[in-house]
Amino acid sequence: MELKPTILILGGTGEARMLASALAGQARYRVVSSLAGRTAAPLMPEGEVRKGGFGGTEGLVKYLRETGIALVVDATHPFAAGMSRSAAEACDATGLPLLRVERPPWEPGPGDEWRMVADWEAAAAALPEGACVLLTVGGGEIAPFLKRTDVSIVARMIEPPPIPVPGHCDILLSRPPFTLEDEIALMKERGIDVLVTKNAGGEATAAKLDAARALRLPVIMITRPRKPPVPGAATVESMLALIERALT
Ligand code: NAP
Repeated sequence: MELKPTILILGGTGEARMLASALAGQARYRVVSSLAGRTAAPLMPEGEVRKGGFGGTEGLVKYLRETGIALVVDATHPFAAGMSRSAAEACDATGLPLLRVERPPWEPGPGDEWRMVADWEAAAAALPEGACVLLTVGGGEIAPFLKRTDVSIVARMIEPPPIPVPGHCDILLSRPPFTLEDEIALMKERGIDVLVTKNAGGEATAAKLDAARALRLPVIMITRPRKPPVPGAATVESMLALIERALT
């Protein structure tokens, strides 16, 4: 019996789930999606799934060898720099092909007032004194902002933060996608003066930027971390073609 090549998808994103579904429909590959296991109730990809860290580059090398993976697709979030680095190092060590699917970053357009900053600390430092801030970063990333007791914060996230939150920060739990109307209503109701976001890119959370433009609000934009250069595609469709080429 002919063995199917196994593709490992490093996931945790919508693109990773779409890719898993697209590959599940093609009988010629076996596909395993990998999740970090950080979220209590993650949206699950179609097909086989494994959960939890590999144990750094060494652990991933061991996993790739033991499971006979033929190709790795890094479909992690643009801010998941640690996983992308160890994927690049492990594929280097094992000689396996590595591809990356990554949505393009958001770009400012006419009427946008964006201030680019390199990280969360710089974003917290850039908040105007006394501002009412809509903070759209992960629960594990809010600590630097909480130190700014001179601002009031509405922090929107999917799951509750892992740390206690002081009175000047209001946690808003909700899961994207969000519409422009909802974003405008939220910003108006809460009297938001400034939006803070990571440059995640993609459609699901882009409406907040349109809302900020419509309301003439400034945006503090955290720029993406650098990831190792690997062949990649911006869409799942182009990734399917790259995979086919790499495995034939
Ligand atoms: P990270 O900083 O790059 O990863 C830290 C460690 O978590 C990695 O070294 C690895 O542990 C483990 N890990 C991460 N992604 C994994 C995966 N897909 N499968 C198995 N282990 C994984 O990543 P992060 O920013 O914490 O993100 C964690 C996950 O959430 C990623 O899968 C990412 O796609 C998803 N996500 C992240 C964001 C974000 O803003 N960062 C947003 C949405 C979704 P070992 O070293 O032990 O292998």
